[in-house]
Amino acid sequence: MRVLKFGGSSLADASRFLRAADIIANNAQQEEVAVVLSAPGKVTNKLVAVIDNTIAHGEADRQIEDLESVFKSLFDGIEAEVADFSRQAVEQKLHSTLSQLKQYVHGIALLGLCPDNVYARIISKGERVSIALMKSVLEARGQAASLIDPVSYLFAKGDHLEAMVDIDVSTANFKRNPLPEGHVNIMPGFTAGNEKGELVTLGRNGSDYSAAVLAACLRAECCEIWTDVDGVYSCDPRVVPDARLLKSLSYQEAMELSYFGASVLHPKTIAPIAQFHIPCLIKNSFNPQGAGTLIGQDTGEDNLDIKGITTLDKLTMVNVSGPGMKGMVGMASRVFGAMSSAGVSIVLITQSSSEYSISFCIEAQDKQAAEQALQDAFELELKDGLLEPVEYIDDVAIVTLVGDGMRTSKGIASLFFTSLAEVNVNIVAIAQGSSERAISAVIPADSISEAIKACHENLFNSKHYLDVFVIGVGGVGGELVDQINRQQAKLAAQDIEVRVCGLVNSRGMVLDHNGIALDNWRDLVSDPAQGFSLASIIQLVKRHHIINPVIVDCTSDQAIADQYVDFLSAGFHVITPNKKANTASMDYYHQLRQAARGTRRKFMYDTTVGAGLPVIENLQNLLAAGDELERFNGILSGSLSFIFGKLDEGMSFSEATKVARSNGFTEPDPRDDLSGMDVARKLLILAREAGMQLELDDVVVDQALPPGFDASGDVESFMARLSEADAYFGELTAKAAEEGKVLRYVGEIDNGQCQVKIAAVDGDDPMFKIKDGENALAFYSRYYQPIPLVLRGYGAGNEVTAAGVFADLMRTLGWKLGV
Ligand code: ADP
Ligand code: ASP
Ligand code: MG
Repeated sequence: MRVLKFGGSSLADASRFLRAADIIANNAQQEEVAVVLSAPGKVTNKLVAVIDNTIAHGEADRQIEDLESVFKSLFDGIEAEVADFSRQAVEQKLHSTLSQLKQYVHGIALLGLCPDNVYARIISKGERVSIALMKSVLEARGQAASLIDPVSYLFAKGDHLEAMVDIDVSTANFKRNPLPEGHVNIMPGFTAGNEKGELVTLGRNGSDYSAAVLAACLRAECCEIWTDVDGVYSCDPRVVPDARLLKSLSYQEAMELSYFGASVLHPKTIAPIAQFHIPCLIKNSFNPQGAGTLIGQDTGEDNLDIKGITTLDKLTMVNVSGPGMKGMVGMASRVFGAMSSAGVSIVLITQSSSEYSISFCIEAQDKQAAEQALQDAFELELKDGLLEPVEYIDDVAIVTLVGDGMRTSKGIASLFFTSLAEVNVNIVAIAQGSSERAISAVIPADSISEAIKACHENLFNSKHYLDVFVIGVGGVGGELVDQINRQQAKLAAQDIEVRVCGLVNSRGMVLDHNGIALDNWRDLVSDPAQGFSLASIIQLVKRHHIINPVIVDCTSDQAIADQYVDFLSAGFHVITPNKKANTASMDYYHQLRQAARGTRRKFMYDTTVGAGLPVIENLQNLLAAGDELERFNGILSGSLSFIFGKLDEGMSFSEATKVARSNGFTEPDPRDDLSGMDVARKLLILAREAGMQLELDDVVVDQALPPGFDASGDVESFMARLSEADAYFGELTAKAAEEGKVLRYVGEIDNGQCQVKIAAVDGDDPMFKIKDGENALAFYSRYYQPIPLVLRGYGAGNEVTAAGVFADLMRTLGWKLGV
């Protein structure tokens, strides 16, 4: 004997209903089957709406019409498909159901309330129509079918809306009145009968439990729960699209998962089948060929320490604390006794080891009852100050990891909490069951999606997402987007999904939370649909619960740099080759780092100095290992490296500048390079990195022009005048050459002083050979002297800079990838 249960999702319309009928008929050909059915689709909710509307407005005409039309269209669809379907029988059932409903509505309207026994009868009506309809469909196909009345077979205790079935008594009922053989026996889910013979319900979503109970009473070989997903997943697949389908679960794992919120199974389902070791299979009625998830004695073959991550929300946390708690025997029992007598169920408990407080979570709807019960139970203690006023934290949720394997593996809790911290989720409380099969954190309810996504990414090693917003898609930014486009597939093969979700240029921005198709990105940004606004980027990230958003600023804009603190505070990583933020005031410099620490985001700017050369990272590593920067000198500008290199080859200064300009090595206005300010900013970034508290004004800058040179006017007239500087540089070059030296434009840090200047260097100096646009940086430190650590290579250009930015981008995932 197999018990097959079909949930509302599998019965929601005619084609689904008929698919369920097919599955039943196929199974019935192999062996005896009993079937448990839910109400179709959202029918139970609509029945609840009938009651609610009647209490509020004295009638429910529209809600009843709505129900009628749901069933009528179900019947229509079935009639169109099934030749011998006898519509009349089910129409009659519907008619009598609706007229009873109208009578109840009348009664409720008079009373102004709905007693629980009536409530139970009303909300279970959908299941009754389901079974009548299934019987007709099966019979129309020549399959004999009978109905089981759960009120006479399943004996339940407890209140009318959350009753528990007594398996022993119910088993005896089935023995006394055996079900007809060779028939498909169909039972409505969700209901049973109490000792007075009244109909009771088993709690919302209780049809799973009905199926388990029936399987237990009939000692079935298997209980199959047919639903709308392929089985139990590691996470709710609606929240985490790449959740993993589990092959198998132990009874205990399934129990914890369902208790802590995996709505695919009702929490009461497992106990009856576990008691009789009945395997339970979760299957998809939309994909009957799929293997499904098997719930049985042991954890099975998935080879996972953690099987699932679940969430429960709409909770309130209650903290009972005070000096009177300490060492007082029976305090916990009084607290929980008060809850129990008020009918408040407790979802999770934690107690501080000082015994100073007890905290627990309850459903938010029970808060008032809990408040009253605690007030009554501890009136004296509260008055005498032995207890502090009870604290209620509203709108909390619980995230739980479940897995038998957690008992034996280490580091899971730490990864769990790190994941929550990574998305800035504040943990209100923690609880771990002594079985070590489940560990839970209480968190603010509005962080659920972020929490579950981050935990799933990290604990299931599933895909890591980097969602990138590129501001400034000209030279470097455009090259970066192209590089991402070329690398996406390769990274995806390593489970790293780099999605460009935003492209911003001076005309506006293009956003897409699923990632912009990059093949024709230039066309998209040529006429962007909306203007740039940080607020809409932040909104998009919030709305779609993006957990790893990255802003890449490839502009040289001060106004964008001024917003980095806002980006970081809003949970973005910030990556940039723009020097403006790190060379703004020292105060802003600290704010940036504070904001990044506060939200555990990365602020990365390795390309601000030496473009793609790994300058900042190396310096940080050295300093972290205890080294100290004593002196620095370097050629930090590609264009000035080129110009000064040409001087010792005999080219005049004005000619060298012209060539550099026409080759695109300089800024469009070469004065931006010759002023020395770009080098000054780079030098300041290095100095600050080494711990010096300096402002840009503190950097002594000698421009790369003769002292007093008139640099006014437009670019062309400046360029025309530049030959006036040739004599000055000719003399300097000749004088240097006499001493075996060459001229270089260098940045120096020495004795706490930063200076940018033209220097004559000899053959022993690492800068001597640096020309043709190359950069070189010589770090003289405690560990590296007298010979310095030298980094050299091309320090400019879109390709190397974009590659450096890309490297920073990948580093935001560094700790996750174990690199
Ligand atoms: P039915 O109508 O068949 O009883 P439910 O809606 O009650 O179906 O349960 C199935 C739904 O449970 C799925 O559609 C899925 O969205 C949700 N769900 C939540 N957590 C999980 C999980 N861990 N695995 C599978 N489904 C889950
Ligand atoms: N129809 C009931 C409900 O929606 C029971 C069930 O489907 O499991 O709560
Ligand atoms: Mg269900």
